[in-house]
Amino acid sequence: MATLTDCLRTLHRIHRQLADLQDRLQRGPKQIRAHEANVKKCEGDVVAAKDAYKQAKMASDEKQLQLKQREAKLKDFEAKLFAAQSNKEYQLLKDQIAADKQANSVLADEILEALDKLDGIQAAIKAADGNLAKAKEECGKVRQRVQEQQQGLETELARITGELRTAEGQLDTDLRPNYERLARSMGADAMAPVEGECCGGCSQTLTPQTINALRLDKPVFCKSCGRLLYVPE
Ligand SMILES: [Zn+2]
Repeated sequence: MATLTDCLRTLHRIHRQLADLQDRLQRGPKQIRAHEANVKKCEGDVVAAKDAYKQAKMASDEKQLQLKQREAKLKDFEAKLFAAQSNKEYQLLKDQIAADKQANSVLADEILEALDKLDGIQAAIKAADGNLAKAKEECGKVRQRVQEQQQGLETELARITGELRTAEGQLDTDLRPNYERLARSMGADAMAPVEGECCGGCSQTLTPQTINALRLDKPVFCKSCGRLLYVPE
């Protein structure tokens, strides 16, 4: 027959293993969610880059159309120049043509700038596409790895839970209701080893009577935190 101390040592070890397993079981899906969020962000970046391209392309096309119209108008003025009827008309047309040429040259520079910008955005789209592909691949890998891990962890969880039931079966029936209530609400924190002369859970100093009772293998709860105490190996 195992002593109460043995029982509690085993139970505490099992509870800690269970807590660790549950923590690892939750970590996997969390990792997947983080990678899925990253894929979504990369998808957003691609859409934003493509939108930016569309806007810039429209602006560039509009400027090119504008330049064509202005160049046609300029030709028109130049034709009129030859047909000028007076010096005054000739001079006016000449000034107009000079001003338009100046404006067109500014517009042509703007078009070059716009085309440069389009090249830049195209490169950004390519980069965003690359990032998205990488993020998707990474997400797929993590999902597969987690799925494989989860299976192993679930198996381990079932095994340790079985161990827990066996260990709990060794507990004295008088103690069991209290233990079960504690274990339900506190999990692995339902128990604590004695550390020196203190509770290993809350560091409260224990009375000599308490230490004595523990040495005699009696069930003792910490008066401060309520944990079930035991003497460690
Ligand atoms: Zn305590």
